[in-house]
Amino acid sequence: MAFHIPSYLSCDIGIDLGTANTLVYLKDQGIVLREPSVVAIDTASRRPIAFGEEAKRMLGRVPGNITAIRPMKDGVIADFDVTEALLSHLIGRVRRGLWNVPRVVIAIPSGITAVEKRAVMDSATRAGASVVITIPEPMAAAIGVGLPIYEPAANMIVDIGGGTTEIAVISLGGMVVSQSIRVAGDELNNAIIDYMKRAYNLLIGERTAEEIKITVGSAYPLDDELTIEVKGRDSVAGLPKTIHITSQEIREALSAPIGQIVDTVRMTLERCPPELSADLVDRGFVMAGGGSLIRGIDRLLSEKTGLPVTVAEDPLSAVANGTGIFMNNLKNWNGRTEA
Ligand code: ADP
Ligand code: MG
Repeated sequence: MAFHIPSYLSCDIGIDLGTANTLVYLKDQGIVLREPSVVAIDTASRRPIAFGEEAKRMLGRVPGNITAIRPMKDGVIADFDVTEALLSHLIGRVRRGLWNVPRVVIAIPSGITAVEKRAVMDSATRAGASVVITIPEPMAAAIGVGLPIYEPAANMIVDIGGGTTEIAVISLGGMVVSQSIRVAGDELNNAIIDYMKRAYNLLIGERTAEEIKITVGSAYPLDDELTIEVKGRDSVAGLPKTIHITSQEIREALSAPIGQIVDTVRMTLERCPPELSADLVDRGFVMAGGGSLIRGIDRLLSEKTGLPVTVAEDPLSAVANGTGIFMNNLKNWNGRTEA
């Protein structure tokens, strides 16, 4: 049943339900929330006790009765209840009151199943949304970085997130070829953890690995190579230990997962229809997602594909901004279920 919602009660929200970070875009205001997609739950009662940044700080540091969960970790919904709790927490934080019935656009990973998509939509409805529209994440990313996706020409996006890398070529508002792999920021962290264990018998946690990646990680030789001090536990002596490592070593450690990303980009290009390939020669592709901030990844990909590559101005916000732009251009919310 369609009914009219008075404007003072409506608020339109765009949500980027990412594997690592969830962002909320509020119409006319822009991005108002940015939180890690992490929920801490009480193991016995299964009740959520912390969300976002607070819950992320608990990852790897919790006592037995609390678990910190990343419900979207691999680009599929590992835990429906926890995903719903996260969505309802976020929608609740931006709703303007109990009687407020927001309309919601949610960007979802392109690898999600129909059942999972339905579950996300139902969760948003239970969280108070009056209308829910989903849009594939690469499409939102392309809109967010300003690609003219409704033109009959190739618009290519490579979004390296936490759990998945999503690649798509879009023309006339539809995805012509798309590919999603579970190799992205998390795998880079894991590669660093493995390297430290192998080369130095040093055990480090995920957060330390991420810090190393962000501080000295690279995909291409740097003009000035970097060093970082790393603290962890010696796996032989069992005691805390500090070592110094270089950006060259970390580049070597990251080369396998980065190679997989390069191969997938090339594979996507091979599946591209020839007219669209021809467009890409000049237009190249745009990179988004936190993983595109790895030093030199644009240069490496440009070298390996022969195409011009640009990194979005604010890669971590591309998808959320895309949901905002999409929603502003939406003429009719009723009857639309997806982009
Ligand atoms: P998702 O959309 O899957 O939630 P994001 O686009 O938010 O993912 O990106 C999160 C990933 O980006 C994480 O793996 C994080 O470690 C990585 N990341 C964030 N900033 C940087 C940086 N400056 N350099 C390298 N990686 C980064
Ligand atoms: Mg993302």
